[in-house]
Amino acid sequence: MDVLVIGGGASGLVSAIISRENNNNVTILEQNEKLGKKLLITGNGRCNFWNKDQDITKYHSSDLDSVQIIYVKKKDEVLKFFDDLGIIYKNINGYYYPFTLQAQTLVDALVKKIEFLKINVKLQEEVIDIKKENNKFIVITKDNVYYADKVIIATGSLAQSSTKGYDLLKKLGHTIKPIVPSLVPLEGVSSYYKIWQGVRSEVNLKLYEDNMLIKEEQGEIQLTNYGVSGICIFNLSGLVTEGLTKNKTEEIKIDFAPWFKESKQEFLKYLENRCQENDFYSLRDILEEFLNKKIVNVIYHILKLNNDVAWSMVNQEKLVELIKEFPFKVKKSADFSKAQVCRGGIFLSEINPNTMESRLVKNLFLTGELLDVDGDCGGYNLGFAWMSALIAGENHD
Ligand SMILES: Cc1cc2nc3c(=O)[nH]c(=O)nc-3n(C[C@H](O)[C@H](O)[C@H](O)COP(=O)(O)OP(=O)(O)OC[C@H]3O[C@@H](n4cnc5c(N)ncnc54)[C@H](O)[C@@H]3O)c2cc1C
Repeated sequence: MDVLVIGGGASGLVSAIISRENNNNVTILEQNEKLGKKLLITGNGRCNFWNKDQDITKYHSSDLDSVQIIYVKKKDEVLKFFDDLGIIYKNINGYYYPFTLQAQTLVDALVKKIEFLKINVKLQEEVIDIKKENNKFIVITKDNVYYADKVIIATGSLAQSSTKGYDLLKKLGHTIKPIVPSLVPLEGVSSYYKIWQGVRSEVNLKLYEDNMLIKEEQGEIQLTNYGVSGICIFNLSGLVTEGLTKNKTEEIKIDFAPWFKESKQEFLKYLENRCQENDFYSLRDILEEFLNKKIVNVIYHILKLNNDVAWSMVNQEKLVELIKEFPFKVKKSADFSKAQVCRGGIFLSEINPNTMESRLVKNLFLTGELLDVDGDCGGYNLGFAWMSALIAGENHD
């Protein structure tokens, strides 16, 4: 078969390799000047390409049953694929990286395999149209026309990228769940963020939508001059962005003392005891034993406290609330240019998860982030790209 793979990113490269190994004549059309460009910036240039904890709950989609089928079919084959490619990996707390901690190593290995298999690669070929006539696909770029028996669309998303992939699929009859940025920093409504800028702190987070608790996360938060960032924030950001587009209110309550597991009332008593036991310390000294100075600055700014204020003089309930349930009201999430992935995409109900073939157009296959699947931070998004590509590249009757 003549197979065209549109998009030479994560899932395109893997599906091209599998398809060629199944004896097809394969051509990759890539709009960029090189293959795997986005892969190079993944994981801060280190490429977190897999996670040991490949758990379906890390994925988000309007059709998790289909994700489950894809996942069960291929989750045990991903590391074998990379082993065969010659990738030695480093497992850092369950997060897999190439041993060199360089994304380039993984891209080089994929590209070498593509050269070895003599897969045709056409760079700077942006596909602008696809048609199907008499069982043949006609794929059009600005300067050329290609013909194929099978097409794999692996054009990725709008996260730090541009693509006409969604339009191509719309034209072929597919429908798209609205696309919003995910794994992004969040901007807040207040004006004091420049005070806490630069702080990193271990926290527990609770996300409230229209005052209802909808998700909890924990990990290291990064406090910025516009709001909040960091992996735990990224993992809430998809829900936040979806909610904001539906005009819901999104508020994150930040627990800056997650090590104290008991109630707020107990925490108040704990602080009171600390202040009584250490009467040569100011309240500020006590707080700075476990909170970053800049976080204390923000709390003092909000409560309008002097640095030498005594415990007995503060609104103790309010102080405890700001430490254990700091209210961060979200104004907006960052846009696609800051997003690591997109939430939404082509509905999985429109593809057969056993083959990744379109249910609407025969011999058309879809992979990767273009689909309505996104994962948490930690190698899950590349995980889905590889798993879907391993299926789409195979020959199906
Ligand atoms: C900064 C950043 C860091 C990330 N870090 C991680 C991480 O550490 N771990 C993780 O799991 N995920 C990470 N991701 C997400 C991950 O990169 C993507 O989920 C994954 O690359 C999706 O693979 P894909 O094949 O669907 O799309 P891509 O890898 O984006 O490939 C799509 C390709 O198609 C090409 N293309 C698009 N339209 C056309 C067209 N019309 N014609 C021809 N070519 C076209 C694009 O140029 C691109 O090369 C990160 C993303 C970003 C932006």
